Amino acid sequence: MSKLRVGVIGATGMVGQNYIRLLDNHPWFEVVYTAASTKSAGKTYQEAVAGRWLMEESIPAHLKNVRVEDATNVKAAGEQCDLIFSAIETDKKTVRELEDLYASSGIPVVSNNSAHRHTSDVPMVIAEVNPHHLDIIEAQRKRFGNNKGFIVVKPNCSVQSYMTPVYALIKAGFPVSKMIISTMQAVSGAGYPGVASLDIVDNVVPYIGGEEEKSEIEPLKILGSIENGAFKNYDQIRISAHCNRVPVIDGHLACVSIEFEDAKPSVEETIEIWEGFSALPQELDLPFAPLQPIIYKKEQNRPQTRKDRNLDKAMAVSVGRLRDCNVFDYRFVGLSHNTVRGAAGGGILSAELAKAKGYLD
Ligand code: NAP
Repeated sequence: MSKLRVGVIGATGMVGQNYIRLLDNHPWFEVVYTAASTKSAGKTYQEAVAGRWLMEESIPAHLKNVRVEDATNVKAAGEQCDLIFSAIETDKKTVRELEDLYASSGIPVVSNNSAHRHTSDVPMVIAEVNPHHLDIIEAQRKRFGNNKGFIVVKPNCSVQSYMTPVYALIKAGFPVSKMIISTMQAVSGAGYPGVASLDIVDNVVPYIGGEEEKSEIEPLKILGSIENGAFKNYDQIRISAHCNRVPVIDGHLACVSIEFEDAKPSVEETIEIWEGFSALPQELDLPFAPLQPIIYKKEQNRPQTRKDRNLDKAMAVSVGRLRDCNVFDYRFVGLSHNTVRGAAGGGILSAELAKAKGYLD
């Protein structure tokens, strides 16, 4: 099978660099094209990231001397790529219009930007939770006027750390009606250069602009349904979020209290549901799918960000500390790797899912 030709736009940033790293030797996709802002355009990729390459691995040899394009050059991307991963960070209107232009030019886009997360026919996918939301691509293609382009987005980088375990419970017949979440989010979530070191070293910042709203609203679309070619939000759950920036490099950890709509499963049953949870990416054996999407850590002081963020290619969500809550039914801790599971790795898994479902043929 020949590989699909892939472009990364926003390739020089935190998420873009993770795409470049993670896609090296991918069995289905090959990065042939990189693009970023006018600041980087015209340089080789190596020159564009000089002094700010943050990955432990070296830049893949075949990309070092590839010329970085201007991300607004949609024509060049269309001529060279079968699929675009978008990791651009600029104002939302610009991103929305640019991603629309790609899709209406017949280019599939998997995006990490929040610009299209609430567009009524754009699926916001956690591959194990709502893979069926990709079915809306047919309706989107009618709007874009071609049968190739589409936009699929990833949710906010902390959402899977609590939504995958909560979804597993809902799927097992235990709907959750209320959640209170307190996140401890890594500095890499703010991109590069991100939060100034003097603001975050020896400190916790109890505010991340827009993050609490995203944590509260995005799950409603993810759990929602498709009606007449548009998403209808799930309205059976209420979420309250506190989002904090903490001095760790990677990994978003969430302390979660949940209340069930009806009867609650026992602690043993809940752990069994989490450990046994499996979904379409596992069934299809997709290259980036973790073997076990939710790993329960039995030690009383786990999951821990540094020790558990890299479980199963950094694609597994780890949970632990399931116990009674004095206000709601249960409390637990969830953890996922923000730049992998929550960004580039999650985007790659969504693209693999789209390919497996025939949307990249
Ligand atoms: P970042 O490190 O600041 O990188 C931003 C990228 O966007 C760079 O490649 C930059 O290119 C490019 N860019 C900036 N302005 C542009 C413009 N006007 N036109 C085209 N390209 C432009 O940000 P990041 O953390 O990688 O985040 C990228 C996106 O993913 C954001 O929307 C972010 O919210 C989202 N996200 C991030 C994370 C995370 O954990 N970091 C997780 C999930 C989602 P130059 O280098 O040329 O300036």
